[in-house]
Amino acid sequence: MIHKKTCFSLLAIFLFLFASHFAGQTSRVALDDPRIEARVDALLKQMSLEEKVGQLVQRDASAGITGLGAGGGAWAEPVAGGKIGSLFNITNPSEINALQKVALEKSRLRIPVIFALDVIHGYRTTFPVPLGMAATWDPVLVERASRIAAEEASAAGIRWTFSPMVDIARDARWGRIVEGAGEDPYLGAAMARAYVRGYQGKQLDAPDSIAACAKHYVAHGAAEGGREYNSVDMSERTLRQVYLPPFKAAVEAGAATLMSAFNSLNGVPASANEFTLKEILKGEWRFPGFVVSDYTAIQELMAHGIANDGPTAARKAFLAGVDMDMESKLYLALVELVHSGTVPEGAVDDAVRRILRVKFALGLFDHPYTPEKARLATIKPEYLEFARSVAEKSFVLLKNEPMASGAPALPVSSSVQTMALIGPLADDAPDMLGPWHTAESKPKDVVTLRVALAERAAASQIKLSYARGTDIWGNSETGFAAALKAASQADLVVLALGEDAGSSGEGGSRAHLDLPGNQQKLLEAVAATGRPIVLILFNGHPLVLTPVVPHVRALVEAWFPGVQAGPALARTLFGDANPSGRLTVSFPRAVGQEPLYYNALNTGRPAEGIDLNHRPRTADERYHSRYIDEPNSPLFPFGYGLSYTRFTYSPLTLSKTTLSARALNSGQAEPLRVSAEVKNTGGRSGEEIVQLYIREQGTSVARPVREMKGFRRMALAPGESKRVEFTIGRDELAFWNIDMKEVVEPARITIWVGPSSVEGSQGGFEINE
Ligand code: BGC
Repeated sequence: MIHKKTCFSLLAIFLFLFASHFAGQTSRVALDDPRIEARVDALLKQMSLEEKVGQLVQRDASAGITGLGAGGGAWAEPVAGGKIGSLFNITNPSEINALQKVALEKSRLRIPVIFALDVIHGYRTTFPVPLGMAATWDPVLVERASRIAAEEASAAGIRWTFSPMVDIARDARWGRIVEGAGEDPYLGAAMARAYVRGYQGKQLDAPDSIAACAKHYVAHGAAEGGREYNSVDMSERTLRQVYLPPFKAAVEAGAATLMSAFNSLNGVPASANEFTLKEILKGEWRFPGFVVSDYTAIQELMAHGIANDGPTAARKAFLAGVDMDMESKLYLALVELVHSGTVPEGAVDDAVRRILRVKFALGLFDHPYTPEKARLATIKPEYLEFARSVAEKSFVLLKNEPMASGAPALPVSSSVQTMALIGPLADDAPDMLGPWHTAESKPKDVVTLRVALAERAAASQIKLSYARGTDIWGNSETGFAAALKAASQADLVVLALGEDAGSSGEGGSRAHLDLPGNQQKLLEAVAATGRPIVLILFNGHPLVLTPVVPHVRALVEAWFPGVQAGPALARTLFGDANPSGRLTVSFPRAVGQEPLYYNALNTGRPAEGIDLNHRPRTADERYHSRYIDEPNSPLFPFGYGLSYTRFTYSPLTLSKTTLSARALNSGQAEPLRVSAEVKNTGGRSGEEIVQLYIREQGTSVARPVREMKGFRRMALAPGESKRVEFTIGRDELAFWNIDMKEVVEPARITIWVGPSSVEGSQGGFEINE
């Protein structure tokens, strides 16, 4: 007979097991799940020091064992010996499976390898570059694109991507500005969450989920002068307020890994920075995943000048909190460093624990192989369709002036009978994929603007001619004559100009932000024909468009739109799609304005109310924070973008006029609600991106002139209006004050709800004690 108490305990155990079983199926696998921890403990106990150190080593498979491009097969021996925790840059699933088989059948403890790749904006289905993705202001769409990328990459056996890049970039010269979400920490955080959710899915251990890696931790985007890999010096306040929020958001969304950056921060290289890695990331934020260094960043500690030999570099990076060494081959020294007592074995255990946690959470021990027939021969039609709609939403209409008929240049009017398509990017498939696409992302999948426009023009009985005109870089004018002939015979000229993909991305910093080569000259020559020009710009850097804009009627910023570049653009030009993207980076008037960003401090002598369009003539005009030869403002500001329709904003309605700092800080205060009616007053359906900004004055430290605290994408039919409401509470109002505490202080608050960082309906309230 079973005792009643025993019966009760059995029931409790059954219920617990039942609940955990279903919890495992319906909730995310958390990295700190006790079930995972128990498996990690059991494994760790069996590992030799050499096997532990092996887990901390990551190698670039394409670089080859001796650096001579040995190829995947050659990795079998170190994998069998338990000397490698992760490999990257293999995309062939049979090669991946073969190596995994070696790890599981030949290595002593059968620990799977985690295979990684830079899957940045799509794997096979290539979406717009991340700066274009950000211009959609649509985290739901970014999440779905990342999910598709995860599905495609995991089908090849890749279970870890070095993405999202969440570096805030305030300097248009920096090449990697194209890889992130732009200059704003609020938008950057929203995008960071979206990427992580998309890659990691509902269940990290689902076979089609991949681990995310938020990079480059931290402040990589603040490289001095916008020059790649350059040093960074900034206050802790700016670090915490501007550069850290997207990383924190990624960690809170469950990002399994982070990558430590190349740059130094206040004299300490980010890949040996105990303050950012140990104190903030692993301490304050309790990050349970692991940190991988950027490519040879540990070896580079010697060039930085903080280590004179490899073992010292390894020790400094490791003790600062970098768990895995990407390609420096220096962590092997940890065996000796532990034996000599320089590095405690407990620290090695902690790093291995973090890596094993991720491997267990990914389900690598339970389903280590990928079914090889899952490899994608083509892109699914629904993914292509989605890629097209993402591209359409990423385009930013920067100018749209009337033609002689009085109608705006875009969409193309029915009176246009002949059209000339001119420019080196009009029929350029490879560059549409941007500077960082995968090896599986193929130019043959790209439909160029020339191909799609030919089809669309034919459907509207428009005669289309094409001339390349010139190269992207280069000074030959041999193509000019044909281009000018085509232009002079056309009712409308569509110019496709800009950068090649290699002009941005890693190692793609520029000191000049003009149109490369002789494209400006071509533009001016075409403009001299007197034919109206619609310019489509492909680029990774925000360019200086000051000499460009006066020559064109309409200007579409297209970034690098991915596989569906052509169809998305053709549909946009003809009005089948209405542009709704907005800039997430400020476009300068001149390179000398950089770094340029909207959420700057006011200074003691702001130039407000001063006419900056001419040299100062009086002392009053001169002694302000200004340039004597250029206005302060960007040519196109953060948040800006036009539509084929128009939107108006009503005055704001606020739910109250005062809030209490004390109540907000103690979590007692009801947030304030602010709302406005947004109306589509034009003749077409369109989507508006409604933006909320605040300014705080009277605080213990100076606060930016505007800071974005919310945004909403809103679809409106012609004549339709909708009320948009935002809440403003502790999260929106707290900042790092004079005592370096993140609190709300008494302040006067100005609010704007509007279409960009320089417009909007204005209101205000007070925060008292
Ligand atoms: C880049 C990283 C990238 C890594 C691996 C580095 O050069 O800075 O962003 O993830 O290489 O390819």
